[in-house]
Amino acid sequence: MNAQDRALTEQNSLFDGMDFSSVEYMLERCMLRDLAAGEMLLQPEVANHYLYLILDGELSVQLVGQKTLQHTALVAGECTGEISMVDGHNPSALVVATKPTRVLAVPHDTVWSLVDHSHEVARNLLAIIAGRMRRDNSALINSHNKRAQFEHQATVDALTGVHNRRWMNEAFPRVLQRCAMDKVPSAVMVIDIDLFKRVNDTHGHLVGDVALKTMAGIMSANLRPHDLLVRYGGEEFAILLPGAGIEAAKQIAERLRSLVAEHEIRSGKLMFKITISIGIAPVTPEGKLDDFFVQADRALYRAKEGGRNRVEVAG
Ligand code: GH3
Ligand code: MG
Ligand code: MG
Repeated sequence: MNAQDRALTEQNSLFDGMDFSSVEYMLERCMLRDLAAGEMLLQPEVANHYLYLILDGELSVQLVGQKTLQHTALVAGECTGEISMVDGHNPSALVVATKPTRVLAVPHDTVWSLVDHSHEVARNLLAIIAGRMRRDNSALINSHNKRAQFEHQATVDALTGVHNRRWMNEAFPRVLQRCAMDKVPSAVMVIDIDLFKRVNDTHGHLVGDVALKTMAGIMSANLRPHDLLVRYGGEEFAILLPGAGIEAAKQIAERLRSLVAEHEIRSGKLMFKITISIGIAPVTPEGKLDDFFVQADRALYRAKEGGRNRVEVAG
């Protein structure tokens, strides 16, 4: 081994904080290997019996799945192959040189002799493996958080922050089934902003968006925690009121209607009010959700016909 390779080996994390010259003689059976860019060092199909110390260059650790993903990059001073070498199983990732890379291949029996001989090497090897576990755990947590974020985004309306129709199709039948089992009445409401086109035409679409957001905020702040509010369409919302008989639903609807009608919506210097119309339908255990919505929509239509800013009940 030339002086430069020796110096690079000494700087490897395996020999941190120790007198390298005390173990140097044990490295006789190690081999230097030069990898070209793109050359594979470890792969899941092939058993590994070496700990590779990276002297120069860069290795990419790639997770092999439906798509090969870069997991991390390893550079001079780091090692690879430690886990497969220790547990005797095949590598769990693909390790490929991303540029010309020089490694020192330490055979597994040499690693164990080093460990037997030096507490520092043993401690460093543990630290290297612990570092890998911590990095893998963080990657796992990140990917879990990302997935949770995607799932959340898929079921929540970005403008108003309330659930969307996709979520409703999954959640409403489940809650209704529960109500049927508990033999409690329920109701659905369909809510539509009155003459909303005029708001957009007069003040512009962005101000219309502020009105939508404000109105969704008023509704969600004034419902019970178990009531389910969704943005059903453009400026239409639906609410499932589990456990609410038709009289209770009417009262809730009336309260929401007047809260919205009284609220001053602000956007910059602009201040204006909007009103909503609401159609309500009772929910029975034997009926279908779609049919309750048809009935609530008919009631909503009557509220519009009747002059808007009103609540109507189906039937
Ligand atoms: P009506 O009282 O009969 O309901 O009258 P309307 O003007 O509200 O009529 P309609 O419900 O058919 O109109 C819906 C309007 O809502 C049309 C569309 O431009 C607007 N709209 C739908 N989604 C959005 C949105 O995300 N942002 C904004 N600013 N406007 C929207
Ligand atoms: Mg509408
Ligand atoms: Mg409308």
